[in-house]
Amino acid sequence: MNSVPRKTWYDVIVVGMGPAGSSTAYELSQAGFSVLGLEKHTHPRYKVCGGALSARIDHILPPEYKEVVEETVHRLQFTYGPEESFFVESPEPFAFMVMRARFDQWLMTLAQQSGTEVHEDEAVKKLEVLPDGVKVTTTKGEYHGRVVVGADGAMSVVAQQLFPGRGLHNIPALESEIFGVSEIRETVLPKPGELKLAVISLNAAKKGYGWIFPKRDGLSIGVGEFVRGDSRPKRSFQQFSQEEPSLAGLTIPTPVGHPIPVFNRSPGFKGHKWNGGLVHDRAVLVGDAGHLVDPLLGEGILYAVRSGQLAGTSIVKFLREEHGSLEDYEAAIMREFAEEFRIASKLNTVVYGLPRSWHRWLGRTFPGPYQGVLHRYCRLLQGQETYQTLWAHAMQKVNPFGRTTPEMEAP
Ligand SMILES: Cc1cc2nc3c(=O)[nH]c(=O)nc-3n(C[C@H](O)[C@H](O)[C@H](O)COP(=O)(O)OP(=O)(O)OC[C@H]3O[C@@H](n4cnc5c(N)ncnc54)[C@H](O)[C@@H]3O)c2cc1C
Repeated sequence: MNSVPRKTWYDVIVVGMGPAGSSTAYELSQAGFSVLGLEKHTHPRYKVCGGALSARIDHILPPEYKEVVEETVHRLQFTYGPEESFFVESPEPFAFMVMRARFDQWLMTLAQQSGTEVHEDEAVKKLEVLPDGVKVTTTKGEYHGRVVVGADGAMSVVAQQLFPGRGLHNIPALESEIFGVSEIRETVLPKPGELKLAVISLNAAKKGYGWIFPKRDGLSIGVGEFVRGDSRPKRSFQQFSQEEPSLAGLTIPTPVGHPIPVFNRSPGFKGHKWNGGLVHDRAVLVGDAGHLVDPLLGEGILYAVRSGQLAGTSIVKFLREEHGSLEDYEAAIMREFAEEFRIASKLNTVVYGLPRSWHRWLGRTFPGPYQGVLHRYCRLLQGQETYQTLWAHAMQKVNPFGRTTPEMEAP
């Protein structure tokens, strides 16, 4: 009996089916190209992640994604140790909370429904550039793609093999989840009908922050330390779990660590290259593989999805021979993210350099003058403001002698 020969040639091979890979694959399949998605795990799989989507995700995902939203957050609590805290509320949501297992599976299913062929439990091991494409060797076979997309996360094999000399800029983060504990409802999670609450603590981590994010039946608790070197995330996590009043009495499972590849603002840093760093011949990097993570908050899911969409658009033009190269993907990323990330980097230095002063200052100025910095940052999360407009506003408040007006009083 003759078996059907295994298909090995595709227009595009996407390595990794997280949010970046599935979004890229979806765009390409929708445009009618043959796409193979290779994923080393089997969905639904656990992913170390806080699972917070800032509300501006509404602008880039179809509304059906709400099917997998666990909680909608209208209320933030900023804490600094057990003594100091203040709240920020809005009738418009700040964020939507997801569990990555469900969210990522939902995105992958969308790509499959549009025609992407997915091989799960199949890890990519080796990539070779050929004159007309890329040869991809996995744990199970060999494939050829006219284009390859590196969507394989922080430790990307595609970035390591096809983008030599590209350094990493990973910061350490830890995450734990508690589920099915009834007393959570009595502590951090609001009673039915109350506004949903997420906790942000600027003293929970060394040059970073700690978070408690509500999920349908539990909490995601984590810390991220956003300045390289001299970090101590395990100690920070332990201290945060013990001292944060909202977590009192809860037994928190041992956290799991994972790097966050934040955008690095100094282009020369250890070989990390921003210009030209996302496109190499017939290969592109999206999401974490391309270090497309906000360096202030560590938000990466939104940028993973959006970079996948932008890469998809560029690859379509390349395969249709409307463009001779994939460079316009890089240009689109520069236009949409580069300036945002640069400003977020500056804020990272300023805020995490003096966390206590910032905590107090933000608490004092919110909700006071409605155009206060924290209010503007909340509007940024809601998609009504950008880092550029926020920064421009802050700069307007600084007088030519470097001193600030009372509203923008330096912490
Ligand atoms: C502790 C922590 C908390 C975070 N919290 C948030 C948050 O609250 N909100 C937010 O927006 N971001 C958060 N992030 C960042 C966010 O998780 C990432 O930015 C996001 O997952 C990037 O998506 P991606 O698709 O690029 O990569 P990933 O989600 O990492 O997906 C990559 C996929 O590639 C697969 N893969 C890897 N190697 C191979 C291989 N060789 N072959 C085949 N498949 C492979 C993996 O199995 C995975 O499915 C957090 C990160 C950490 C570490």
